[in-house]
Amino acid sequence: MSFAEFALIDRIRARSKGRDDIVLGIGDDAALLQPLAGHWLAVTADTLNSGVHFPPETMPADIGWKTLAVNLSDLAAMGATPAWGTLALSLPEASEEWIDAFADGFFALADAHGWRLIGGDTTRGPLSLSVTAFGQVPHGQALRRDGAQVGDDIWVSGTLGDAAAALHLWQRGELDVTAVAQDADREFLRQRLLRPTPRVALGLALSGLATAAVDVSDGLLADIGHIAARSSLRACVEPDRLPLSPALQRTMTLERARSSALAGGDDYELCFCAPAANSSRLHAVAEQLGTPLTRIGGMVDGAGVDCPGMPVAQGYVHFSNAHAQGVQR
Ligand code: ADP
Ligand code: MG
Repeated sequence: MSFAEFALIDRIRARSKGRDDIVLGIGDDAALLQPLAGHWLAVTADTLNSGVHFPPETMPADIGWKTLAVNLSDLAAMGATPAWGTLALSLPEASEEWIDAFADGFFALADAHGWRLIGGDTTRGPLSLSVTAFGQVPHGQALRRDGAQVGDDIWVSGTLGDAAAALHLWQRGELDVTAVAQDADREFLRQRLLRPTPRVALGLALSGLATAAVDVSDGLLADIGHIAARSSLRACVEPDRLPLSPALQRTMTLERARSSALAGGDDYELCFCAPAANSSRLHAVAEQLGTPLTRIGGMVDGAGVDCPGMPVAQGYVHFSNAHAQGVQR
């Protein structure tokens, strides 16, 4: 740990706020926390590597936002309230300018959710950002992947395929991730890639309504596949029900838009299962939160994922998955 790295930690520390349940925050050998009685801790970690999870030229503020967003999305998918976490930074150089811009995006999202940074690690190396995030969920109320039942509906929040479409445009040299796009549709897609919205309030509202949930990070088919596998059921997805944004539909053919929605990934929407009897309550949740919820299929006996008429279901994908293939042109 060099003097330059201490200066960076000081800048981060200056931006992090306290909370009554933080006994000791950044600055000692370890943080001390007082979890809520009657709650479980939900713990998750996600790393973003430059050139693998985001285009290398991505602006530091956007990297900061997304580094935390992908982790809060995992807490949302568990039905947990975000609480605290750590940040492990690997930086090619000790740039205070870079850190300040990164912190702008990171703490904008942290503060919006009352999530507090309580420690971390700062090293020199290829650009890589890793968060370990803790959330709290009342005993027995976590949303797991293994609770889906035969006959449950499958729902998804928001729209799918937007971020993957933006990545696809960037790969073809048709989108600059570092500047506001002139075209409103392109700008919408760009924001969906750079500034995903973790569905925290929705995750909390689904307690008692959903039987299983997952956040869509690797592509809908892959992620609903996790629920199917863990619940020992088959997921049937109806491609003509997929929620596609107007911007996505205006940007590409319907077939390509559906492929992007099914296999693209980086959506950070919630996909969940619920008994049909809960559908009117789910519509009320959607209304109350201003978050669209769409029923896209159902769970049946069997195994795997079924998506009739879509070649993608048989393993053909238009869009290279960012996590599997790396974000490269
Ligand atoms: P140690 O050598 O005891 O691990 P460090 O010198 O690495 O301590 O870090 C000093 C303090 O700064 C610790 O409290 C640590 O959690 C915190 N810290 C280091 N890097 C970060 C970071 N990137 N974000 C937040 N806190 C950090
Ligand atoms: Mg350390």
